[in-house]
Amino acid sequence: MSSKITGACLCGNVAFAYSGDIAAAAYCHCTDCRRTTGSAFNISIGFDADTFEITRGAPRAFEKTADSGNAIVRHFCADCGAPLYTSSPAHPEKVYVKAGALDDPNVVKPAYQSWLKSRVAWSHIADDLPGFETDRDGA
Ligand SMILES: [Zn+2]
Ligand SMILES: [Zn+2]
Repeated sequence: MSSKITGACLCGNVAFAYSGDIAAAAYCHCTDCRRTTGSAFNISIGFDADTFEITRGAPRAFEKTADSGNAIVRHFCADCGAPLYTSSPAHPEKVYVKAGALDDPNVVKPAYQSWLKSRVAWSHIADDLPGFETDRDGA
């Protein structure tokens, strides 16, 4: 599958585009993904680095050795703080884009989940929780 995909950070100062094959997306429950998203897990999608381009702004980068032992560079908007993608010096041919940063997140098809040993109990949303179409106050 190949298509043109675009995305951006929360404030819009950084935007990106991609055209190429879309690898399987994955849920990651690792501790670093929990901290970087501020949520239960991360969903990322693998893109070929040579057809991934930043089309606006310049993301900042933060490098950390991940639980896997590999150095991971996390790219984010320095203005709004939104995480955008990760790269790995060991695998320069790929970038792993945060699924929620895509303009059309429905192109994402999660295929597996990793780091289940770090999964938090609240990563699963119970079907019987009260739900609201917008926020709870209906505002
Ligand atoms: Zn931003
Ligand atoms: Zn992770």
